[in-house]
Amino acid sequence: AAKAAGKKRWRLFHPEFHSKLVARHELQAGMDTAIADHAFALRYQPIVEVRDGAPAGLEALIRWPHARRGMVPPDQFIALAEESGHIMPLGAWVLEHAALDIARWQRARPQRAPLYASVNVSARQFRDPGFLEGVRRALRSSGLAPGSLVLELTETVLMRRDAQIRTTMAALKELGVSIAIDDFGTGFSSLSYLREFPIDVLKVDKSFIDNITTDPQQVALVEGIVRIADVLGLQVVAEGIEHEEQRALLAEMGCRYGQGYLFARPMTAHQAESYLHRSAPAGERPPLRPAVRP
Ligand code: C2E
Ligand code: MG
Ligand code: MG
Ligand code: MG
Repeated sequence: AAKAAGKKRWRLFHPEFHSKLVARHELQAGMDTAIADHAFALRYQPIVEVRDGAPAGLEALIRWPHARRGMVPPDQFIALAEESGHIMPLGAWVLEHAALDIARWQRARPQRAPLYASVNVSARQFRDPGFLEGVRRALRSSGLAPGSLVLELTETVLMRRDAQIRTTMAALKELGVSIAIDDFGTGFSSLSYLREFPIDVLKVDKSFIDNITTDPQQVALVEGIVRIADVLGLQVVAEGIEHEEQRALLAEMGCRYGQGYLFARPMTAHQAESYLHRSAPAGERPPLRPAVRP
């Protein structure tokens, strides 16, 4: 026991552990001000047709441009924001901004199928009594159609089978907003969730896609998910596609949608605009520069 305690004490004062604590504390302390100042940024990563790479929607991914720590990724502050309750105003900000950006990009290409906005929602945020009103407000102020909004929930939200969650889901359904399960397959999922909750999309976690070209078991798992989704009338998005071989295999399996560095990385709003412009079929592309007269 003495040895274990000694180890523990050593870990507490380990420099790496210490600097993590400092970072945590600094981020926690700065969050109030950052929220008040709208000092966060969104990146957008396309969700595309695996077959031909055509964009179907864009996922909003939050970043924190921090004066001392550079561009802080969500993994370093979302959990903190959940603990402190900052996730409520933060999540509302993400919803509003993503809805505004996507609605604008939709208007820029009226002749094409409307792009959808996919927004990550954390468990505490989803359970908050003000959540639904926040969704309605974001739709209203942006003019985005409810059918163009997908909310990405993780399996941890569904694990608590309480009335609040059911009520919120039912209300979202009623509104016409879609629900995706993010990182599908990594949580304590049980297939009964798919029957119990009004789910529309399964986002198959990257860890299932990583070894798909070398591991027949992964192929079988993903194929199984695609088939179950087909039967239940759900869409499937494969996350984290990095190689052409993965894309080809997924297309062959009948997985319709995908996301990953192969197609595009998360981009600034500005970069996303030019990406969308480039991805439009040539006939629909407005000229970038006025045509030169002879
Ligand atoms: P996620 O929703 O599963 O998002 C996918 C993550 O994988 C993103 O990381 C994305 O940049 C990364 N990714 C996408 N394609 C590839 C690929 O081909 N290869 C590799 N290696 N990575 C890829 P990111 O942006 O750091 O976000 C991490 C997580 O933070 C997200 O995972 C999501 O759970 C959470 N998150 C992001 N934005 C928000 C937000 O606005 N609200 C909440 N509650 N959570 C958010
Ligand atoms: Mg996501
Ligand atoms: Mg995901
Ligand atoms: Mg994931």
